[in-house]
Amino acid sequence: MKKYDFIIAGGGMAGLSMAYYLTQSPLRDRSILLLDRESKNRNDRTWCFWERGEGPFESILFRNWDRVEFHGTTLSGLLNIGDYRYKMLRGIDFYAHIQEHLARFPNIEIRQANINRIKETAQGGFVIADDEPLMADYVFDSTFALKLDDPDNHNLLQHFKGWVIRTEKPCFNVDQPRMMDFRVAQHGDCRFAYVLPFDAQTALIEFTLFNETLLTDADYEAALGQYITQHLDTGTYQICETEFGVIPMSDVPTQENPSEHIVRIGTAGGHTKASTGYTFQRTQRYLRELVQSLAQTGKPFRQKSLFKSRFKLYDSIFLNVLQKHRYPADDMFTLLYEHNSPAQVFKFLDEDTSLGEDLRVMWSMPKVPFTMALFDVLRRKLLS
Ligand SMILES: Cc1cc2nc3c(=O)[nH]c(=O)nc-3n(C[C@H](O)[C@H](O)[C@H](O)COP(=O)(O)OP(=O)(O)OC[C@H]3O[C@@H](n4cnc5c(N)ncnc54)[C@H](O)[C@@H]3O)c2cc1C
Repeated sequence: MKKYDFIIAGGGMAGLSMAYYLTQSPLRDRSILLLDRESKNRNDRTWCFWERGEGPFESILFRNWDRVEFHGTTLSGLLNIGDYRYKMLRGIDFYAHIQEHLARFPNIEIRQANINRIKETAQGGFVIADDEPLMADYVFDSTFALKLDDPDNHNLLQHFKGWVIRTEKPCFNVDQPRMMDFRVAQHGDCRFAYVLPFDAQTALIEFTLFNETLLTDADYEAALGQYITQHLDTGTYQICETEFGVIPMSDVPTQENPSEHIVRIGTAGGHTKASTGYTFQRTQRYLRELVQSLAQTGKPFRQKSLFKSRFKLYDSIFLNVLQKHRYPADDMFTLLYEHNSPAQVFKFLDEDTSLGEDLRVMWSMPKVPFTMALFDVLRRKLLS
């Protein structure tokens, strides 16, 4: 049976990032097998995230903005995001860039194969891919599917459909993405659109919901069409590309280290921020920490501060408010950006704020619904 130092199961965002960070570390000469059933040669997603300064993928960013538009109920306009930048990275550019980089390492094998099984053994992580048994000291798994149906947790979905459109008239301001536009019918949910301009006549328009039930394709498309008609002066337009995605917004307990030789990464490892669905930047940060630990101690364990686990409580409270419809979501996001600078909100969502800063953000939220949500979350935790 073939044995590797590391097998990376799943070569999507987390798997490719993991391989990339290993090549940036003293472990760059180790034998690595990267497995994915897809060849990752399609532009199947677009990542947006905020970041201070330059990041490792600066050279392949598709767009990079220093301000964003927000349209809420009583606040509407341009937001100054301080020294953060709102960045956009296309899936295809990321996949191609990392694959090209990895091709320079003869010790890294990339194989297109279906992973049938991943199992812990006393000798290491055991993988069956296309019916071939394989072993590794560590298996980094981004293919594990989270179980999102336990009623003890909040299990919302962030789901969206997007169109890249090319318009007849120049109508987009290339310097101003619309990060959240709540000027769409809420139907008691959290619904918003966002607009990521590529140039004056081309943009990605997404219609997004945070709730428990997917819409029909026709419903997403009707909402997109209506938004474009009502809020963009496009003239006629042509749909060039489409994107659809579902991201878990769940406080289901996840395990990064389910056993000694298996490490879960990306969405599978709980790297998605439950209250926002943002995953890209958190995965990058966590993988850098994992690789650093592996290089320094020989073991891939991130140090997790107990004090930081308070952010999980905040996420659960927020999900509870949304799931129980305790307060209109458009008003809630408006309050958030009305009373806090966007830079402070980004810092809070990155879990980099102090307790005092957390409390200031929380204080800007409606007190009664959030207190009720806090008690409901604590009750669930005590009962489970
Ligand atoms: C359309 C879309 C847009 C998104 N936009 C953003 C965004 O703007 N910002 C943000 O922060 N997050 C975003 N996300 C969320 C998150 O960043 C992405 O889902 C990200 O790709 C998650 O990375 P991952 O490696 O965990 O999963 P994936 O990238 O999905 O990688 C998992 C890989 O495992 C492979 N695989 C699964 N099962 C098997 C098997 N049995 N055998 C072999 N291979 C297998 C899959 O082919 C896939 O390549 C978006 C998600 C989607 C779907």
